[in-house]
Amino acid sequence: GRVDPDQEMIDIRMNPIKHKILVISGKGGVGKSTVGCMLAQVLASQSCKVGVVDLDICGPSIPKLLSVEEQVVVNTEYGWKTLLSPHNGIKVMSVGAMLKSDRDSVVFRGPRKTGLIKRFFKDTFWGKLDYLICDTPPGTSDEHLTAIKVLKNVKPDGAIIVTTSQGVSIATVRREVNFCRKMGVKILGLVVNMSTFMCPCCDEVTNIFPEDEIEKLSEEQKIPILARIPIDTRVTACCEVGRNPVIEHPDSQAIKCMEQLVKSL
Ligand code: ADP
Repeated sequence: GRVDPDQEMIDIRMNPIKHKILVISGKGGVGKSTVGCMLAQVLASQSCKVGVVDLDICGPSIPKLLSVEEQVVVNTEYGWKTLLSPHNGIKVMSVGAMLKSDRDSVVFRGPRKTGLIKRFFKDTFWGKLDYLICDTPPGTSDEHLTAIKVLKNVKPDGAIIVTTSQGVSIATVRREVNFCRKMGVKILGLVVNMSTFMCPCCDEVTNIFPEDEIEKLSEEQKIPILARIPIDTRVTACCEVGRNPVIEHPDSQAIKCMEQLVKSL
């Protein structure tokens, strides 16, 4: 067939990146971005070269989580220069860095959004990376379709589905599973976030939601549960201000769970 020069450039940019992982969720607020960033931080703390591309054009939360809010994207002869997170040198690309203030909203619609996402892959100078973590907006929309399409030639490793074990979240997980299967994206597994709460003073563990439904789904669909991550107030406190929970609270349950998850990748 005809060669698409954009696609050729994307392939050139993506080929030196060993692993590409999509982080998806059916609903917002389940901790998808937090889990994606913790994953990036754990990998980076183990000496991997890591990039995070924020495909949430309308609600970017990565710049804050990775503490690159003050930085702006500049164009160089090699392409768009990535933002550099102080957390183990994670490279970041996000539309958040292209807005003048966080009160600016992005009113990009369909084609412009698609165009920008393409450029994140085509024009960003990522260089050699071990992992590129792709954070996506909740649900399944243009952003996902575009990312999957542009990564087709370089075969992403697959998707991690982040959810809580509430009934309403699980219903949307089924939709994500069907979407991935339809699009030919491998599902690496589920991450059940905020699954328990550990009391900071006595370490007593309390379950938050019953987990039989998510376990049933996992069995039925033959999708492993990669991790169950407790609610961890130390993690939240760090993330809220853009500090690195992996460095500050390496012995916290949430980070230990993320380290287990990384081993299973
Ligand atoms: P999403 O990307 O799914 O919309 P976020 O990652 O923004 O969700 O997380 C929503 C909120 O929940 C944030 O305030 C975040 O700090 C908090 N949060 C997420 N996961 C945890 C966790 N395991 N422990 C404590 N707080 C968490």
